[in-house]
Amino acid sequence: MAWRLASFLACQLGGGLLAWLAAAQTHVKTTELEAALLGVLGGGLLWFVIDFSRAARLLRWLRTGDLSDATMRTGLWGEVSDRVRRQIRIREQATLESHSRLNDFLAAFQASPNGVVLLDAQGAIEWFNQMAAAHFGLDAQRDLLQHIGNLVRDPGFVSYFSSHDYLNEIAMPGRENTPARPVRLSVHLHPYGQGRLLLLSRDVTALEQADAMHRDFIANVSHEIRTPLAVLTGFVETMQSIPLGEPERNRYLGLMAQQGNRMQTLVSDLLTLSRLEGSPPPGDSDWMPTAGLMRQLEQDAQSLSALLNASSDKLHELCFDCAPGLEIAGATGELFSAMGNLVGNAIRYTPAVGQIRVGFLLLPDGRAEFSVSDSGPGIAPEHLPRLTERFYRVDHSRSRDTGGTGLGLAIVKHVSQRHGALLRIDSTPGRGSVFTITFPASRVRTLPQTAIGAAQPGVADLRL
Ligand code: ADP
Repeated sequence: MAWRLASFLACQLGGGLLAWLAAAQTHVKTTELEAALLGVLGGGLLWFVIDFSRAARLLRWLRTGDLSDATMRTGLWGEVSDRVRRQIRIREQATLESHSRLNDFLAAFQASPNGVVLLDAQGAIEWFNQMAAAHFGLDAQRDLLQHIGNLVRDPGFVSYFSSHDYLNEIAMPGRENTPARPVRLSVHLHPYGQGRLLLLSRDVTALEQADAMHRDFIANVSHEIRTPLAVLTGFVETMQSIPLGEPERNRYLGLMAQQGNRMQTLVSDLLTLSRLEGSPPPGDSDWMPTAGLMRQLEQDAQSLSALLNASSDKLHELCFDCAPGLEIAGATGELFSAMGNLVGNAIRYTPAVGQIRVGFLLLPDGRAEFSVSDSGPGIAPEHLPRLTERFYRVDHSRSRDTGGTGLGLAIVKHVSQRHGALLRIDSTPGRGSVFTITFPASRVRTLPQTAIGAAQPGVADLRL
């Protein structure tokens, strides 16, 4: 401000001095004093003209100019322009920061595994992420600013949206839902801001399927246990109320023991399954010689065949073949249980005098293949995809009569998966079935001839 006053006074003084000197030299009629006063006035006027033009330049610059350009640097107007420029820079910086924060938020929403839709107070779509686009079939070009009710037309959603009661979420079919491949969404609206809504969607297909499987599983287990229990209590009541002769009594006790065994096998298979599901996958450093395992499987197969065919003089034709020195890395007990299930099934479902071939062979590419083929009744193709489901049976009566639990192939599938192996089922109705487990080369090795015959696991080591 002092500089401004000084420049104003300097202009006046300069003007006055110049006019005084000019009057003294030119001998005009006015006195030097009058000329000096006029000069002071002229100097002041000039100062105002210059100042006004600088202010006008500043105003022009503010209206249209490039704000990064320094229009003037000195004086009051220079300081004003400097401060304005600084304020603008600060604002620009703040805008950039809030833009980048907004982009970060949107990127986080975009990365969310859930669908996110932002709706304005009228229910029009302001923004949505890719997951929401997939859930509701939205298109970023076409559907922005459209009303959500026009795009998501499921009646459940429409009435939920218009109810204004958003305390709970609702379930609805997803865009890709078909009878063959159901897709279920859980959708929740959350009010925020000034009447706006945040729409969150989650794919709950797997969760609902798991729930349904869990319910089915409980129902199946209850059913499987209830049947033998009902038989057992029936016999107990009969024995309590009717005096029985020795042979009759023994027959009843035999049947009761059979039902007890059935429940025991069921519980044991259930425990095996839950152990398989709850434990970490087996490592690949414990090597199991397959020859000992095959010997044990063969012995068990002969006993089972003899037991099932006790009333006839016919037996199955069993043929076991194992590559010499072949070893598999994994959990011995699990592998024995899975392979025992396959051999047991072949014997149980193949009528006596049928043939059963069991092989454990090395493939040319280093993998190993355990296969069980039988000449039994075979399985119709429509059953094949469901065979490894728990409690799924094709032949209910044969399964129960021969002590089956409906869990055998589920155990085989689990054990195979845990060893990185593939279970394949080939079957032709009327001609027989082949069950194959193929182990990856990383879990297969063959011992040199000299080392064959060394430590082989005993029966106790094999059971799960
Ligand atoms: P289960 O204890 O009933 O044998 P599994 O899970 O082992 O249960 O087998 C499921 C169903 O697959 C069986 O009930 C049976 O109907 C069918 N199945 C399994 N193995 C054979 C086979 N070798 N031949 C024919 N059917 C088989």
